[in-house]
Amino acid sequence: MKLIDAHIHLSDKEYTGRTEELIADAKNANVTALVSNSMDLETSLDNLKLAEKYSGMVYPALGIHPWNVNVLKENELEETLKLIREQHQKKSVVAIGEIGLDYKYEAIWAKQLMVFDKMLHLAEELVLPVIIHSRGTTAQIVDMLPSYNLKRVLLHWFSHPMSALYKAVDHGYFITDGPPVAYSNGIREVVKKVPLTNFLTETDGPVTYRKAPFNGQMTKPSFIRTVVEAVAEVKQIATTDAAEQIAKNFENFFNIKLA
Ligand SMILES: [Zn+2]
Repeated sequence: MKLIDAHIHLSDKEYTGRTEELIADAKNANVTALVSNSMDLETSLDNLKLAEKYSGMVYPALGIHPWNVNVLKENELEETLKLIREQHQKKSVVAIGEIGLDYKYEAIWAKQLMVFDKMLHLAEELVLPVIIHSRGTTAQIVDMLPSYNLKRVLLHWFSHPMSALYKAVDHGYFITDGPPVAYSNGIREVVKKVPLTNFLTETDGPVTYRKAPFNGQMTKPSFIRTVVEAVAEVKQIATTDAAEQIAKNFENFFNIKLA
């Protein structure tokens, strides 16, 4: 059984010095691929290094997260866009992410939109997948994306509204969900409604999950096993069948052949 973590932040400060431990934990739990998402230029560069070190297992998604739009350094946006282009030429970037819009940062809405638009245009041009953060903005984002020519869209930590889920599925978009599948009725409802062919698993580590069965332990790739078991339970299928379909989705979405 091959498991995948389509959304983690291995370059996050909270994981500093723990990469070896996290990779060993992933291997031990049959998590064969991790997409390490970026927050800014620095974490994009860090993720490239990790992907080089753990080649065939760690894959980098590069971009600027909406939370970082307000603290961008001079030329950081341009340099990140340039880095993505260069790495695309070397075939060493698998997606643009994590990018998006967050309603809690309304004060910098125009700047969020500007950065998001630039990233989406680059994804269009390079035909790269996008990994999207959409807290409080999912419906709006799902309505704006068809104006771009994007082939592969992943809405990360999809929670609501259901109307946006149906539209997203109609457009062929994918969603990810993670540890909350094990304890949140709302997220379980999403998993129930989304076709398994449009679904991928994530941890979003180092985000901490306080509820059982995670109980605030450091988030590790091995949590994926519990997530897949919960998905299988919701879908009323065997865990191995759920894992197999998710692995297939991963290969198709990111154009990666799993080791
Ligand atoms: Zn994330």
